[in-house]
Amino acid sequence: MIQPRENNPWDGWRTAAQRGDVDHALQALYGAMAEEVSRQGAVCWLSGKCCHFDAYGHRLYVTGLEVAWVLDQAGMPPRSPAAGHACPYQSKRQCTIHAWRPMGCRIFFCQDGTEAWQHDLYERKLKGLREIHDRFGVDYGYMEWLAALDGAVSSGCFAGSELDDAGAGANC
Ligand code: SF4
Repeated sequence: MIQPRENNPWDGWRTAAQRGDVDHALQALYGAMAEEVSRQGAVCWLSGKCCHFDAYGHRLYVTGLEVAWVLDQAGMPPRSPAAGHACPYQSKRQCTIHAWRPMGCRIFFCQDGTEAWQHDLYERKLKGLREIHDRFGVDYGYMEWLAALDGAVSSGCFAGSELDDAGAGANC
C-alpha cells in the first residue's frame, strides 16, 4: 500500500476543487473572462500549435486549484505529461477539455496585436484566482502546467492516478 506523503498539497487542492462554492467561484471568474475576451474580437484558428510548448517557445502557468479542478472535472490526462512537449489533453489539434481548460488557455491567442490586452487581462484575472484561493482558505501554488500535471498524477490524490488503484484519495 502506498503511504501518504507528508505535506501533500494536492490533497488540499483536490478537496477544494470538489466544493460547490469553489466550483461556482471558478466558473464565475472564467465566465467573466470569456466576456472580456469576446469583446476583444480575437479568433482562434485551431492550429493547435500553442499547445506544443517547446516548439512554440512558451509555457503555460496555472494555480494548484486550477489543476485540481481540471482533474476533478475532466479526469486524468490520457498520456503522461512530458516536460516541454505537447499538452496531453490535445488530440488532433483540438483541446479535449475545452470547458475546463486553465485560465492561460482561455486568454492566449496567437494573432498579432493581441499581446497588450492579453497581458493586462492575465494579470487582473490571476489576481482573481489568487483571491479565490484566499477566500476559501486554499494554499496558493503557481506552477508550470506539465510539471503540475505530473505532480498531481504522481500524488495519488485523484481518481485514475497511476499510483491510485483503489480510487480517488487513496494516497492522501
Ligand atoms: S488544456 Fe487544452 S488549450 Fe490548454 S494547453 Fe492543453 S490542449 Fe491546449
